[in-house]
Amino acid sequence: MRLGLAVIYPNVSHLYLHIPFCARRCSYCDFSIAVRQRVPARQYVEAIRTELEMLGPAGPLETIYLGGGTPSRLPADALTTLLQYVFNRTPSPYEGEVTLEANPEDVTSDNAAAWRDAGVNRVSLGTQSFDDRVLQWMHRVHDAARAREAVRTLRAAGFENLSLDLIFAVPAELERLWARDLDEAIALAPDHLSLYGLTVEPRTPLARWIARGAAAAPSDERYADEYLLAHERLSAAGYAFYEVSNAAREGRRSRHNSAYWSGRPYTGAGPAAHSFDGRVRRWNLSAWEAYRRAIAEGRSPVESEEVLTTEQQEMERMYLGLRTSEGLPLGSVHSRSHWLGALLEKGWLVEQAGRLQCTVEGWLRLDALVAALTGPASTS
Ligand code: SF4
Repeated sequence: MRLGLAVIYPNVSHLYLHIPFCARRCSYCDFSIAVRQRVPARQYVEAIRTELEMLGPAGPLETIYLGGGTPSRLPADALTTLLQYVFNRTPSPYEGEVTLEANPEDVTSDNAAAWRDAGVNRVSLGTQSFDDRVLQWMHRVHDAARAREAVRTLRAAGFENLSLDLIFAVPAELERLWARDLDEAIALAPDHLSLYGLTVEPRTPLARWIARGAAAAPSDERYADEYLLAHERLSAAGYAFYEVSNAAREGRRSRHNSAYWSGRPYTGAGPAAHSFDGRVRRWNLSAWEAYRRAIAEGRSPVESEEVLTTEQQEMERMYLGLRTSEGLPLGSVHSRSHWLGALLEKGWLVEQAGRLQCTVEGWLRLDALVAALTGPASTS
């Protein structure tokens, strides 16, 4: 059976699979997840297979990203079946990047070996902090010792491409030492780091704590200080920020995420997964049960779509371009020359080799900066 989505899949080379299951909800998280003690692995793999069948024949793939949720909670045999199915659909043997998001508590020697055998060649590990009090506050399952052990286990299993996630700008009352967390992460010699500033999303435990005065709202000042410190420490340790939130050693950029930031088409499968063909963005039903039912009944799991206007495409192109260290070709911003001068003067942007790039100060204010470049409002 083919549905409307089939127009997207054959021409894209980046595949995202959303695996929504988590052991519990972290205090700051508003992602589309399904809290399950037992992961319905067989049902999940069957649903993804059916959705991919619905999408029609696959073209060549460059990257595969297993995100969540907590993909590492999918039993290793189910993950193997899933990836084998995806590989078998590609017209030639798959040799690209396969990223698995994993939580430290799921990293055992057996799992790590099975993930390698299944074809995973990059792991993005949700470490978040190396301070046990902060991890407990975040409702994470693991502690710092487990995170360090997970890195050692993954290296021993042969993973040469390892990324760590860290969350910064947590409330001051936690007395978290951000510099120490950065140093601990650097000491583990990851190939890549992703840094996320804590944001308060509605309907999260954190939002409720703040509403009743049990936690302080994150401060902008702390956010800026810690973001700048991360740049300083990671740059000194040999990591280059190639995107506003991501730093890598030479040759270790995320190819999958880089495809998003360069506006390339991608297909997503699974609950809440998004697909994009350069002009039309579609997204699936976000609740696991609703998604599973739609697939089981032979209906499209697509919840909705938006067709980007030329203006929206332009805005998106600028936003994505300025997120990256490559920036934008200067000529493509010509119509905003008035604001451009002001932004260069503020030191938020620099002009280099015919390209316009964000400085660290500019990345700190990316939303305001893009609004200034794409809208009529003044920034002065
Ligand atoms: S493990 Fe990740 S996806 Fe799951 S609740 Fe925590 S932050 Fe959200």
